[in-house]
Amino acid sequence: MAEQPPLRGTDLTLACQEFVELVTEHLEGTLPERAARAVAAHLDLCEPCRIYLEQMRSTATALRTVPVPSLPPPARRRLLEVFTTLHGDGRGGGP
Ligand SMILES: [Zn+2]
Repeated sequence: MAEQPPLRGTDLTLACQEFVELVTEHLEGTLPERAARAVAAHLDLCEPCRIYLEQMRSTATALRTVPVPSLPPPARRRLLEVFTTLHGDGRGGGP
């Protein structure tokens, strides 16, 4: 039998909101590695966000730019913290 990784006790609903905030940077490829990994993990579990990402990608391609202004650094930092806390696995930091 194939082993399936169990769903972790993360709050997917909240994570979706964070994902929406981070999708611009995800498309631009400017996310830090940990956040990018967290985004990938979220997309793996969350079909609505995959659809949203595809829509954003088509929109950005059509406009040749991303139609959302960049977040101010403090908000961005907070979002990244929240998102990596929700999805991060703690590897690579701390004891
Ligand atoms: Zn989601």
